[in-house]
Amino acid sequence: MPIQAAGLTDIGRQRTSNQDAFLVDSGHQLYIVSDGMGGQQAGEVASRAVVSVLPQMLDSLLVRLSDSPRRVIELTLRETIAQFSQRLRQEAAAQPGMKGMGATLAMIWLRQDLAHLAHMGDSRIYRLRHDRLSQLTEDHSVVALLIKHGDIRPEDAANHPARGQLSRFIGSDGEVFPDLQSVQLHPGERLLLCSDGLWGMLPDAEIARLLLQHPEPQDACQALIQAANQAGGKDNITVLVINFEPK
Ligand code: CA
Repeated sequence: MPIQAAGLTDIGRQRTSNQDAFLVDSGHQLYIVSDGMGGQQAGEVASRAVVSVLPQMLDSLLVRLSDSPRRVIELTLRETIAQFSQRLRQEAAAQPGMKGMGATLAMIWLRQDLAHLAHMGDSRIYRLRHDRLSQLTEDHSVVALLIKHGDIRPEDAANHPARGQLSRFIGSDGEVFPDLQSVQLHPGERLLLCSDGLWGMLPDAEIARLLLQHPEPQDACQALIQAANQAGGKDNITVLVINFEPK
């Protein structure tokens, strides 16, 4: 089935560097958004590694996996991403100034009409189906855990002191694994990968409205970034839109 995809990143209005990165690899049908953290340089190094080193590690695997059962694919992706995370952590520990280096991962590998999702941190993956937007990933953040356990209300999240703290990410201590899921896609559906610079600035209803207003991925990316900047642009903003069998 034909795929149309585009990604775009923007520094926002308040930051002095862009620590986000993305990958649109139409050949492998691999799509990634990553948001780096750590000191200025460390964050950039981490997110760039997610969109360059991880795809290299996956390169030969994806070819080999293309006919494998879903469970084998999920397990292999999970293991490879965990290995990559450990590698990044070791590299950070070995280099001065790189301590605390880490990054989020929102990744989709499309295989025919199946989307394999891998995710760590608070970058998100959404699906637009029948004009309704739903968040497919669960944030790995402290506030998300507090909301889940009923300790705080969702409306308190934006101003909570732990806001922005991640419970799981690429490069975090110990053996950490991403969440994996596989989603069946239907013609006309669209996927959105984004960093928190988008969803932190715009409510989901506004994101959905803009996607519907802009059927072309490139246009949608531009409109979403513009709207996030108009809402304050407090953080770097990265968006990636995939149209599955565009009309
Ligand atoms: Ca961010």
